[in-house]
Amino acid sequence: MRFFLATGNRHKLEEVVAILSTVSPEIRVECADAVGGMPPVEEGAASFVDNARLKARALAQRVPEGAAVIADDSGLCVDFLDGEPGVCSSRYAGAGASDEANICLLLERLEGVPLEKRTAHFRCVIVLLEPGGRERVFDGRCHGRIAAKPSGRGGFGYDPIFVPSDHDVSFAQLPAARKNCISHRAAALRKLAEWLAIFGRSVSSDRDLGSH
Ligand code: IMP
Repeated sequence: MRFFLATGNRHKLEEVVAILSTVSPEIRVECADAVGGMPPVEEGAASFVDNARLKARALAQRVPEGAAVIADDSGLCVDFLDGEPGVCSSRYAGAGASDEANICLLLERLEGVPLEKRTAHFRCVIVLLEPGGRERVFDGRCHGRIAAKPSGRGGFGYDPIFVPSDHDVSFAQLPAARKNCISHRAAALRKLAEWLAIFGRSVSSDRDLGSH
């Protein structure tokens, strides 16, 4: 089966390709550019699952018959801020905000908050939309803390201020291969790969939302 990734974010694409090449080399994803690009999607939904579903369904209109779509919606949830920025991670400091502006606002909101109260997790929800319209949901998390200031140049988004549990450097300071081993995206994609290894051959035309 052919798989298309519903994202226009080149960092996500690189990570998804790198992770799948390790956990399941037989799954080869093609990018949205191969079918004319990712259509614009208003990510206004209140949940990661609904936003991922919107992206998957938007790209499904463009992929060849018989192909499946994989969509990722992800974000950073900070406990002290009751889960903010969450689904608004990419636009925390406003529509079209840069990663730097989002980080700046988050650090401002956590000013004076001691390290032990700066717990957070990244979350990644993957929706697999099968050719017949059946949907499957895979959820991955990576826990850690928000650092007092940014460090490192790797990755994207909030990577410079996220220090994963059992590490003392930020995601942006880790080698990409290490991030791709422990990240929320890796956790969700591993579940997708495990599911495909067991059930991937069954194709249905029924609509069904199963969560994993
Ligand atoms: P989405 O395109 O709506 O899923 O936006 C995801 C946003 O969450 C990104 O723009 C980043 O700000 C943040 N994000 C998601 N995954 C990561 C990650 O692996 N590292 C850093 N930031 C991330």
